[in-house]
Amino acid sequence: MIDRTVSLTILGSGTSTGVPVLGCGCDVCRSDLPRNQRTRCSALLSWAGRNILIDTSTDFRQQGLRAGLDRVDAVLFTHTHADHVHGIDDLRTLSPARGAAIPVYGSHQTVEAIQRVFSYIFQGDGEPGYRPRLQLSAVAAPFELFGQVVTPVPLEHGDGQCFGYRVGPLAYLTDCSRVPESSLPLLVGLELLVVDALRFTAHDKHYTIDEAIALAGALDVPRAVLTHLGHDVDYVRHGADLPAGIEFAYDGQQLTLQVGN
Ligand SMILES: [Zn+2]
Ligand SMILES: [Zn+2]
Ligand SMILES: [Zn+2]
Repeated sequence: MIDRTVSLTILGSGTSTGVPVLGCGCDVCRSDLPRNQRTRCSALLSWAGRNILIDTSTDFRQQGLRAGLDRVDAVLFTHTHADHVHGIDDLRTLSPARGAAIPVYGSHQTVEAIQRVFSYIFQGDGEPGYRPRLQLSAVAAPFELFGQVVTPVPLEHGDGQCFGYRVGPLAYLTDCSRVPESSLPLLVGLELLVVDALRFTAHDKHYTIDEAIALAGALDVPRAVLTHLGHDVDYVRHGADLPAGIEFAYDGQQLTLQVGN
């Protein structure tokens, strides 16, 4: 029997500063509760024995150690904000086979920016051990990866662009402030939505908690997990007020689904 399990591990559930925020003494930042301690936003998908990373956050090394990650078979980048990309150098030791390049996917703009900002990785000279080996591919439409279809979902992130990704009935949408009309057909029939929900008050680049809950309702998703959380969010105190089917993400959270082809 073919194993059609897809698992998603929340490697990091925090906004760009992480939580606690350096220099902040608020109640959440001083909380001892592990679920109030959030590394920068990232996730790990696994299916068919493969590890597919979504973003290489600033905290990637720490996240990889915590998850026991010993290889990365592909990377899906959402966009190029520092909190989602700046752990890229730590892919160095995680190629699936010695010397093999890790396939990396993103929008045309994302791939171009990674190539420009991290030019040392792609210059081809210098000691190979001192840079990750990556094979960049720009994507704009669904593509097959290790037997599953991965669908990029274009999102608005303030006045910038971002890709969410869908695999089967699972969608991971961060960072975003709006799902454009043209992307809504890509989000029909979801069973699990992981979605950006920065805080309670309005922000021009991120959904608020209420906006994320409204999106989950509009998409009729039975289970939604709110991520990219800031220090306004107390996992226990505010979690008690969430509607049925909505929960806050936390670092190390594991979600599994059965997926068809
Ligand atoms: Zn972010
Ligand atoms: Zn704080
Ligand atoms: Zn961003």
